[in-house]
Amino acid sequence: MRVQTETRSFDCADSSHCELPTPLRMTKCLESVQNMFPFKLVYSDAYYLPIGEHVFPAEKYRRIRDRLISSHIAEATDFLEPEPATDQDILLVHKPEYVHKLKTGTLSPREQMELEVPFSPELVKAFWLAAGGSIMAARQCLSDKVCISIGGGFHHAFPDHGEGFCMIHDVAVAIRRLQRDDKIRTAMTLDCDVHQGNGTAAIFAGTRTESVPLPSVSSSTLSPGTATKTKMRGTHAGEVFTISLHQHNNYPLYKPPSSIDVDLPDGCRDDDYLAWLDNAISSGLRQFEPDLLCYIAGADPYREDQLGGLALTIEGLKKRDELVFRVARARDIPVMVTYAGGYARNIEDTVTIHCNTVIAAKEVFA
Ligand SMILES: [Zn+2]
Repeated sequence: MRVQTETRSFDCADSSHCELPTPLRMTKCLESVQNMFPFKLVYSDAYYLPIGEHVFPAEKYRRIRDRLISSHIAEATDFLEPEPATDQDILLVHKPEYVHKLKTGTLSPREQMELEVPFSPELVKAFWLAAGGSIMAARQCLSDKVCISIGGGFHHAFPDHGEGFCMIHDVAVAIRRLQRDDKIRTAMTLDCDVHQGNGTAAIFAGTRTESVPLPSVSSSTLSPGTATKTKMRGTHAGEVFTISLHQHNNYPLYKPPSSIDVDLPDGCRDDDYLAWLDNAISSGLRQFEPDLLCYIAGADPYREDQLGGLALTIEGLKKRDELVFRVARARDIPVMVTYAGGYARNIEDTVTIHCNTVIAAKEVFA
């Protein structure tokens, strides 16, 4: 129904309000509109990775969706169902030989081992779908300012091989697809997973000169000692600017240079992490103007993570998300989000951290 107030009119979809006396109806309608979810979430039950008993909690995607609905953060109608990426989309990033091996199940035993998840044709389908979900989220955020795919973020996949649980680089595929469609020219990846985005750095390496240390603009806000232990380095050339904040002493052993890498020391806590994040984003946006921001919101910088060695709290991780969304909103940069890793001892913590990313976006973009 169309509701008219003194200053504006708006649509309310809740027909139960029609039964109410006018003043109460107005209040209820206004509440409904104010609580409306301000963007779309991309999700499919088939995001589930068929990898059996594994440290990667493949059921986290469904649990996140269920929690978002049961806690009334989002409704079923706020979710979009993605289509798998096409082979042509995948080939915008990955080498034909590698794609052929995946489609025919002919990876060598060594290549299968490097992937660190058991290969199956079903797994190939799940990764094609994750890439389709990221394409959808990237497209959707251009009109809605923000869109979150409850999956993806497979930042360790390279053009010619997969590793570290990542077969296909869904975010890179999305960027290349939107560039091909002339929807965007430039993009920035902001990777906050605890592990460096080695695949992202390699894919978008372009022609770089040797990395140089960057001056820290906010080192005065950091704890004594952290500024000297943390290294921020970078240099950039190309249409995609890559930022990675990660634990230095962690996988991958070899870290190909991103446009900006922040090598954080073991045990880095909320305040220092947030200062370095702020520093890296500011530095990146002084050098580069992206048409699209791809935020890889890993849950594994959490202090209880089994594969991470940073010490962020659940509250600190939500502040991280808020910081990213506030910057994107202030600068009017569309932001698409993917989830990457999260290996908390208690899977409910991983689910909470990922749900908080949705809540943070809802608060910032409401
Ligand atoms: Zn990770």
